[in-house]
Amino acid sequence: MCGIIGAASSRNVGKLLVQGLHKMEYRGYDSAGIALHQKDSIFNLRTLGKVNLLEEGMIKERPKSNLGIAHTRWATHGKPSQENAHPHASSGEVHIVHNGIIENHDILRDELTTAGYVFESDTDTEVVAHLIHQCRARYPDMSLREAVYQVCSRLKGAFALAVIDKSCDECLVLARRGSPLLIGVGEKEQFVASDTLALKGFTDAYIALEEGDVAEVKANTVTVYNHRGELVVRELSKMTDRVETTDKGQYDYHMLKEIHEQDARLRDSLNAVLDGFRIDWSALDGLDQSILGQVEHVHLVACGTSYHAAMVAAYWLETLCGISVKTDLASEYRYRRVVVPEK
Ligand code: GLU
Repeated sequence: MCGIIGAASSRNVGKLLVQGLHKMEYRGYDSAGIALHQKDSIFNLRTLGKVNLLEEGMIKERPKSNLGIAHTRWATHGKPSQENAHPHASSGEVHIVHNGIIENHDILRDELTTAGYVFESDTDTEVVAHLIHQCRARYPDMSLREAVYQVCSRLKGAFALAVIDKSCDECLVLARRGSPLLIGVGEKEQFVASDTLALKGFTDAYIALEEGDVAEVKANTVTVYNHRGELVVRELSKMTDRVETTDKGQYDYHMLKEIHEQDARLRDSLNAVLDGFRIDWSALDGLDQSILGQVEHVHLVACGTSYHAAMVAAYWLETLCGISVKTDLASEYRYRRVVVPEK
């Protein structure tokens, strides 16, 4: 899952969105792209490789816009390529960026192909763009927000979506299920991001969308609807002064920086749940001694580097606690029948 950034403002947003993408580079990605509303059309630029390449394209084209979305992709469906990079578009009208996986994309792709839609990428994401376009074409009186809400009910899987449409030059629409999405609330401008760090420098007030929420974001207003389609008010949070930065500091690579930060991170993580040398149970939301005391088996489910960390943790837990531990790759765990023993 990679990075989403978006903005609705009275100033030119292209450069801001590229800055936002830079701030999410530490997450790793294979391609980047941007879509900007330009009243009569939508400018769409995508590049394979680093955000710098996208930035070069932007400097050449100099698109002006007050509304846009951008993305760094980490391919799950379809190889890393320019065609598969986000934003994906349907008929040049609906442009979307997506983090996550649409599990039922195959069935939807067949259905849309039969309906005459031509696919330009191998991604699961493109089906969502066409579904929104189809819904808008079928129900011209329906708002973009309502169309996104309708389409979400047809999607299986995890997603954070940001959508713009040629016919709507002042709003972008968001949807969230199983993948984080935030609205950074500013002075007469709003930002959208999948990562708080991407909002740094733009605003420190944000709304975290909840499961099933669909939101409409304009430069001066934010309206959020819950999974039942009811208008709701979501809490405004303040970004804490976190010590992390998203630049590479004195290091050549993000990974090298992370390796050198390990001892500090480990200390921070432990300090958050320790009171001297004892566990501060109040810091472990919902977990208390009576539950942990009964545990006989542990499954550690993780990806990538976290998976390797889990293998070390398994070694410690078995050696020190005598509890049986199984480590599993998250990408496998959810697609097979896992035997989870009692306790
Ligand atoms: N599943 C989408 C793709 O492969 C989104 C990947 C992501 O979260 O970056 O294009």
